[in-house]
Amino acid sequence: MSKDMSAVILRGPMDYEVERVPVPECPESGILLKVKACGLCGSDLRTLKSGHRNIAYPWIIGHEISGEIVEAGAQYKGRWKKGDMLAIAPMAYCGTCDFCMEGKYDLCDNSREIGQHWKGGFAEYLAVPEEALVLGTIQAVPEGLDPVVAAVAEPASSCINAQEKGQVGLGDTVVIIGSGPIGCIHISIARARGAAKIIVADVFEERLKLCEPFGPDVLINAAQVDLVEEVRRLTAGKGADVVITANPVGKTQVQAVEMAKKGGRILFFGGLPHDGSKPGIDTNLVHYRGLHLIGITTFAPRHHLLALSMFASGRIPGSKLVTHTMPLSDFKQGVQLAAEGKALKVVYLP
Ligand SMILES: [Zn+2]
Ligand SMILES: [Zn+2]
Repeated sequence: MSKDMSAVILRGPMDYEVERVPVPECPESGILLKVKACGLCGSDLRTLKSGHRNIAYPWIIGHEISGEIVEAGAQYKGRWKKGDMLAIAPMAYCGTCDFCMEGKYDLCDNSREIGQHWKGGFAEYLAVPEEALVLGTIQAVPEGLDPVVAAVAEPASSCINAQEKGQVGLGDTVVIIGSGPIGCIHISIARARGAAKIIVADVFEERLKLCEPFGPDVLINAAQVDLVEEVRRLTAGKGADVVITANPVGKTQVQAVEMAKKGGRILFFGGLPHDGSKPGIDTNLVHYRGLHLIGITTFAPRHHLLALSMFASGRIPGSKLVTHTMPLSDFKQGVQLAAEGKALKVVYLP
């Protein structure tokens, strides 16, 4: 296939355009996909703005992908065939480190990602290497699930991993700080796991409204009230069983510790900027209240499978999560909408 295709080419921080480039070669033992959909992620916004340690310019990012197989390599021995529609989450695990041996794939020492180690999905075609097919997070799109929604199963996979680690369960009061797409997904998962009261906080009224279709019980505009006091008031002074920080602001980690119930679980879901990652948590609260601080990065293959089935069953309402779809030629418009918090998920249809 010696054709060319449209792709978003990154040449440096804040330097990217939709360009014509050659269609990638189908890997010998891999497959070539015609990209159906590729979601824009918060981490993509960061990479567009400031670059990423794992990428070398010029580069193509995009890691929340679905697409149809148009070619299989001569040495490809996998289970899929031409015409199959796949949901691609980007992880590829090594399978040999201590963590992989224990089945803790999310902690793999040598994990690689499509969009970082291999070129990503903001393009018409995507070469999928054997490594990602064999020990990765790629699945067939379930019957009846829109491939546009299947593309965004990746962020939901991390959220499922987080709530599993935080043991969100029946009757819990759960506070989610941040009402972006990640916060919205957390609402649906907490509900599915049996949470009794789901409180969502954000400092932007407009963004707070975006999460309403997901059915939170209480919305708090944290720019207008003291968030910690408000959560204590709503929980008869006891605090929340689980607090999830779904944003990149250090102060919310401090607040999360202050608003948790004795014995509560605090999930640090959103990473912080490098120069702001010591936000001044009162560790005496952690000590005397017996709190559990839990960090989460990425997910294992089973979380991706669960995410796809939750979208397929409607437990996570994908059509409400994907608020904008647009062609790749409108790439910058989508970036702007997401950066301004006016969209939940922006998904490109290359
Ligand atoms: Zn993502
Ligand atoms: Zn490993």
